Amino acid sequence: MTRIHHINCGTLLVPGYPTVVCHCLLLEDPQGLALVDCGIGLLDVRQPVERLGQPLIDLAGFQFHEHDTAVRRIEALGLNPDDVRHIFLTHVDPDHAGGLADFPNATVHVSVEEQSHLQAGHWRYVPVQFAHQPKWKTYGPSERTWFGLEARTVSLGFEAEVLLIPLFGHTLGHCGVAISEGNRWLLHVGDAYYLRAELTDANHPVDAMAAQRADDDAGRRASLATLRRLAHDHADEIDMVGYHDITEL
Ligand SMILES: [Zn+2]
Repeated sequence: MTRIHHINCGTLLVPGYPTVVCHCLLLEDPQGLALVDCGIGLLDVRQPVERLGQPLIDLAGFQFHEHDTAVRRIEALGLNPDDVRHIFLTHVDPDHAGGLADFPNATVHVSVEEQSHLQAGHWRYVPVQFAHQPKWKTYGPSERTWFGLEARTVSLGFEAEVLLIPLFGHTLGHCGVAISEGNRWLLHVGDAYYLRAELTDANHPVDAMAAQRADDDAGRRASLATLRRLAHDHADEIDMVGYHDITEL
């Protein structure tokens, strides 16, 4: 069975908020390794201002620690970063995609919508993080459904099945990543919520920041409503984690 490791690949300190993590998944399978999001990378740690710029560092509260990179986390697990064959990105924001350059041979799986906004030069993304020309594989609209939601099938050859689940709004092509675990599923929701408490608290204070950082706030709210429904109706079949809530790591 594909083993799933939960690893922190970045720390953000935003005044007035709890410490924020970058909760990535590492899938360990006989066929190799795969990451769900990849946090900050070694190059970000070594050249933060040159790559990200001071205004973005200050806004997001980036902290730069080499142990908070996917490469070092994988090594700490006794695994080989060169075995990472696939990277799934919920979206391509700088705190999710910075580690890509550390895995130039991996295939990068992302929605076609997200990748096309990146290629079109959307302001929120950091082009230098993609200068190494990642090996993209994009996924467009699909007929398949998963608990009533559109599901885009990824063929990895891993024992676990992996699906991209559109949860648009935070960005225009933002997706969750669903991974089968025996009879259950783990859904990584990316930034579809920042804090798990948003699933049960419709007036959570973090909502204002989430609204401000959403490319399509109505879409973000619809995606959050979808997650609330899934969490309520299918708790016995689906586990859910987000990217930034330290309590879930
Ligand atoms: Zn994020």
